[in-house]
Amino acid sequence: MHHITLIPGDGIGPEVADAARRVLDATGISFNWEIRNAGAAQIALHGTPLPEDTLASVEKNRIALKGPITTPKGTGISSVNVELRKKYDLYANLHPIKTYPAIPSKYDHVDLVIIRENTEDLYAGIEFMVGTDTAQSIKIFTRKGCERIVRFAFEYALNNSRKKVTAVHKANIMKCTDGMFLEVANYIAKDYPTIEYEDMIVDAMCMRLVQYPERYDVLVLPNLYGDIVSDLCAGLVGGIGVTPGANIGTDISIFEAIHGTAPDIAGKGIANPIALILSGVMMLRLLNEVKAAERIEQAINKTLLEGKRLTFDL
Ligand code: NAD
Repeated sequence: MHHITLIPGDGIGPEVADAARRVLDATGISFNWEIRNAGAAQIALHGTPLPEDTLASVEKNRIALKGPITTPKGTGISSVNVELRKKYDLYANLHPIKTYPAIPSKYDHVDLVIIRENTEDLYAGIEFMVGTDTAQSIKIFTRKGCERIVRFAFEYALNNSRKKVTAVHKANIMKCTDGMFLEVANYIAKDYPTIEYEDMIVDAMCMRLVQYPERYDVLVLPNLYGDIVSDLCAGLVGGIGVTPGANIGTDISIFEAIHGTAPDIAGKGIANPIALILSGVMMLRLLNEVKAAERIEQAINKTLLEGKRLTFDL
């Protein structure tokens, strides 16, 4: 029996979380789902978007499957997602990006993994006004943060038969922060002589990903570039409705899709649940339930190939 915290979230979250739970249950593996809330609606009830019993459940089970949560733009309310990543030091954000033969795409052979640093950079949330007309945000990189994400990327490559790691940065302009990220990537790469290594400036990376995505394997990026490039890559293979994700720490892991709460389609029962189902597949692999993970992937491929009951985004 696996004890998992299930956080349905806001918007389309409850719909896709329910679908993912039903698919995972259908594998026959025994789950004890502890359903806990987080998100905007919790503020009125608990004075916080992250209630204590939700945190206690995540801390007890150490694995959560999570739907998306609303973050209001430009208000004082901070992101629950960023809070969870910081609180549990979920330093590695993983997005496998793969072409599905049945999903129309201009690209046939994309199979890459994005590994995004998840706790530092401009997402550290250190922002303030200087007077009324100047706003400042501080970009934090630590050597420890750079080292552990780059090492995670190389270890991932080694353990998953991947051939190449590309470190993505803007060290030509940001010599201290991105410069340190690049310096760290250059010296850690030397510990992995069997893995090909290169670095690339983020703007050139975006162009190349659109031109030749099949040339890339594992990308390791600081937080902000990773966030943006993840969506770009999702767009190469069918969109955010089919792109899963995982936030991995040393002790706790939270699995969630790349997409948000999709308020434009919430409650209509038309959201694509594949991204969260595939996030559940990533969770099964962490739980060593490899056969069940493969069966769900095959079932998704079969459903896509049949093409009978596809969601509107496909
Ligand atoms: P979004 O991902 O919610 O939506 C972007 C577009 O993609 C919309 O047109 C939406 O209908 C479509 N879409 C998203 N998921 C889909 C799915 N499963 N099936 C079909 N279509 C889908 O991005 P947004 O509109 O920028 O953000 C809305 C809210 O979600 C914001 O409050 C944002 O902060 C939050 N958000 C949360 C997370 C998270 O919790 N991890 C991630 C991203 C955004």
